[in-house]
Amino acid sequence: MSPTGELIVPDEPIIPYIEGDGTGVDIWPAAQLVMDAAAKKHGKKIAWQEVLAGEKAFNETGSWLPDETVEAFRDLLIGIKGPLTTPVGGGIRSLNVALRQILDLYVCLRPVRWFQGVPSPVLHPEKVDMVIFRENTEDVYIGLEFEQGSPQAVQLIDYLHDQFGWEIRKDSGIGVKPISETGSKRLIRAALNYAISRDRKSVTLVHKGNIQKYTEGAFRNWGYELVREEFADKAVGWDDCGGKPGDKILVKDAIADITLQQVLTRPDEFDVIATMNLNGDYLSDALAAQVGGIGIAPGGNINYVTGHGIFEATHGTAPKYAGQDKVNPGSVLLSGVMMFEHLGWNEAAADIVSALERTIADKVVTYDFARLMQGATEVKCSEFASAIVDRL
Ligand code: NAP
Repeated sequence: MSPTGELIVPDEPIIPYIEGDGTGVDIWPAAQLVMDAAAKKHGKKIAWQEVLAGEKAFNETGSWLPDETVEAFRDLLIGIKGPLTTPVGGGIRSLNVALRQILDLYVCLRPVRWFQGVPSPVLHPEKVDMVIFRENTEDVYIGLEFEQGSPQAVQLIDYLHDQFGWEIRKDSGIGVKPISETGSKRLIRAALNYAISRDRKSVTLVHKGNIQKYTEGAFRNWGYELVREEFADKAVGWDDCGGKPGDKILVKDAIADITLQQVLTRPDEFDVIATMNLNGDYLSDALAAQVGGIGIAPGGNINYVTGHGIFEATHGTAPKYAGQDKVNPGSVLLSGVMMFEHLGWNEAAADIVSALERTIADKVVTYDFARLMQGATEVKCSEFASAIVDRL
């Protein structure tokens, strides 16, 4: 990072990667082939550095997430990963969550758009072009919970009753939902900066503040406050402009349940979305399904202050297909596209997207799309990657 907070990227950056468990052995080399070809076309090269996590790490080192892996991501700032098995009863709840927490990757970035030819369950998938900023470090996902009947749960229920007169059933499990001003504002700031730099039209704050006033409602209020405090020259809140932002970015808000309806019925009214962890989880998967993209939806976990970012396939390890050279490498490849954009390699990123689009438009696809398309040529994972490279 430069002293002013910009990422300084050499022409041959060292990028740590985790191949991933299960189908990682199939999708990683496929995606790497395409990324290398696109980088080369633009006079760049990536010095890939494999780091271990998941089953491969456990088998080779006895640790699911070796310190060297975390240190590589910490030192080298930007990395990419395939899917990882979540160890059962292994002490770590999820390796993905662990990496996000250790590096404080507070934004989960999920762009959702349709690619020409991809089978979709809706009539107008082309109207979906949204970018979700999901808060990654707070909300009920923080994991502060006590099991029903545990001494801690009973103690907490009694305490809440004695101190505040709150009536909670004795046989309840209890969890905590923290939403802070710091966490909310840094997430919404990242969404606004993204909207400004990408010439987007609006940022919608999605919340359930009508019910959860001091957590989700506060998130909304802090968002509008931030716009007035830091972005007054570039963005304006709905109430401050009557919905007429002029040439500024319009910041509006929407209740989460209504949002889930409206992204279906009026998708073109949504552009950049900023929301909390749980809403963001539901919304990003629902939207990915809308564009037929469950197998190809990409994601990135980013800290825009330190510059750290780990881009990742959003699907799991699909173990039943592992090693068959069968599944779609699109998710990890498009995560690579996001990584290229983050590095400022925009032309190479755009080239991959258009080559991927042409491959799908030519109906050269892996099994998951082929089974939903008429007249498709079903190819293997590696053949799909080669077909994309041919069209670069
Ligand atoms: P999954 O691995 O995502 O697989 C569910 C289904 O999604 C597959 O059976 C397949 O559908 C489809 N799918 C997954 N990857 C695909 C690809 N590359 N191309 C085309 N279709 C694909 O979910 P899971 O079976 O619930 O989870 C398996 C393991 O992955 C678990 O250990 C879980 O913890 C882990 N996981 C990891 C991550 C991550 O690392 N980010 C995320 C989620 C889950 P069809 O059967 O219809 O072909």
